[in-house]
Amino acid sequence: MRIAFLGLGAIGRPMAVRVAERHPTVLWNRTTERAAELARQTGARLAETPRDAVTDADVVMTCLPTSAEVESLLDGPDGLIAGMRKDALLADCTSGDPASSRRIAARLAREGIAFVDAPVSGGTNGAEAGTLTVMVGGTEADYERARPALAAFGRTIVHMGPVGAGHAMKSVNNALLAVNILAVAEGIAALVKAGVPARTALEVLNVSSGRSFVSETLVPERVLTGAFPNTFRLALLQKDAGIAAQLLRDTGVEGPMLELAYRLYGEARRTLGENADYLEAIRLIERQAGVEIRG
Ligand code: NDP
Repeated sequence: MRIAFLGLGAIGRPMAVRVAERHPTVLWNRTTERAAELARQTGARLAETPRDAVTDADVVMTCLPTSAEVESLLDGPDGLIAGMRKDALLADCTSGDPASSRRIAARLAREGIAFVDAPVSGGTNGAEAGTLTVMVGGTEADYERARPALAAFGRTIVHMGPVGAGHAMKSVNNALLAVNILAVAEGIAALVKAGVPARTALEVLNVSSGRSFVSETLVPERVLTGAFPNTFRLALLQKDAGIAAQLLRDTGVEGPMLELAYRLYGEARRTLGENADYLEAIRLIERQAGVEIRG
């Protein structure tokens, strides 16, 4: 299976490495030097334009910040549609939004090109290990076509429903993550100020009913240690919370919790900038509380 992979950012890069280890692969990135370096490392072919990347591909994979960037690559003389074969499939691994995906799918369908939305969860570590969860929106037949390519980095690959259903699922997952990060940090900050060591608070939480991925993994590995690695931009998590809030509005579900998360991450984004890691939101809570969650 010949694959073109476009978008070699924090998570696209380790996903593309695994693809290139398993399939003949062509790489494209807006900043060409990043793709050139990865092409040297993996033996994949380097493409100068999106069109050049996709001409021979059976499956084209995109992993860009939002659906808007994916849409921006479709048209024009160097765009995806100018290069893609009529029997090819675009699997968009961006955490995009359902409405844009339905529009992209319709645009591609006019050219005879298939589309699935296939966002991932599991972080950059999961991408390196090939253990990502992939949430696929599209027809059953297109899901089956995409599956062997997605298996290069996905361990759990689930057909969620029609086009857009993968992005809807991913946005709710990340909105819950966003809520939980703030809630855990607020609670632990208060406990520390009340005299409970942060590590003890987490140990008890993690054998009690309030535990979560945030309390079991993220805070112990990245906050208690003070490591705060840059793996996932806060701006992207805020974008995901916004997609989930829109999903609730579209479906007529009142969502004060998720709306608040979207707003709070918006404030954090304005304070911390476009390149801050998502767990930097915890530092803002620490700063307000006048306490550090370490130990
Ligand atoms: P990054 O910000 O690290 O990388 C973004 C990528 O998109 C880069 O390759 C960048 O190119 C490219 N890009 C940005 N703007 C444009 C544009 N206008 N045209 C073409 N290419 C563009 O993002 P991530 O890799 O972290 O995330 C990618 C997607 O995956 C997002 O939707 C995110 O929400 C999702 N995701 C991320 C996870 C993570 O842990 N990081 C986990 C799960 C999902 P350039 O190199 O030139 O800047």
